[in-house]
Amino acid sequence: MKMIFLGPPGAGKGTYASRLTPILETPHISTGNIVRDEIKAQTELGKTIREYSDKGELVPDEIIIKLLAKTLRKPDYERGFILDGFPRTIKQAEALDKISKIDLVINLNVPDEIIIKRLSNRLTCEKCGTIYNKLTLKPKKDNICDECGGQLYQREDDKPEVIQERLNVYKKKTEPLIEYYRKKDLLKNVHCNDLMTPPEVIVEKIKLMINSVKNTSRS
Ligand code: ADP
Ligand code: ZN
Repeated sequence: MKMIFLGPPGAGKGTYASRLTPILETPHISTGNIVRDEIKAQTELGKTIREYSDKGELVPDEIIIKLLAKTLRKPDYERGFILDGFPRTIKQAEALDKISKIDLVINLNVPDEIIIKRLSNRLTCEKCGTIYNKLTLKPKKDNICDECGGQLYQREDDKPEVIQERLNVYKKKTEPLIEYYRKKDLLKNVHCNDLMTPPEVIVEKIKLMINSVKNTSRS
């Protein structure tokens, strides 16, 4: 199954995808993680990318499309994937259409107030990328990753002055994708209106949707 998780920054795309990956045996591709790895590796490309990402702006389409296309060529993704953070513009969606057939797009609907609260309290593991939250998803030990013992940090783009900019970019550039995939009849909506809803509840909803699509495509 080839899936896209769509939704504003902080909607939970990464959190849900990483929980669904082992259950569905479908790998998770996060372009945010690809971007952060490139920055960490301090390559020339990484330096260019950083200038956009630290400010909450999108990396130019040409760059991100090339990175994604390179990833999708790996045999690991032949049978399926959960794409998180891509596409983010119509141009990227059109490029993806040429690379791969998509079976389902899950659109996560979350109000702005929740997003702002979530992102400003989000902590990320510097080693493995696992996501925590100071209010709702605390690590067992302060600032230490439960999974790998790595140090937790606040992402540059999770600072309050950058969060509003990311929401603006989402509304202007990414939101039109909802209509793009609705027209293709691939879109399913999931709603989360409460900050304290545990991830498992949403994961369960998404799982049911995926199964219903799987069953219809078989019959
Ligand atoms: P979020 O938590 O906002 O969903 P991500 O971790 O997905 O953030 O992405 C972090 C940053 O990486 C983005 O703000 C952007 O600069 C860059 N990035 C990731 N994916 C894309 C993409 N598909 N197109 C352009 N830029 C991207
Ligand atoms: Zn970790």
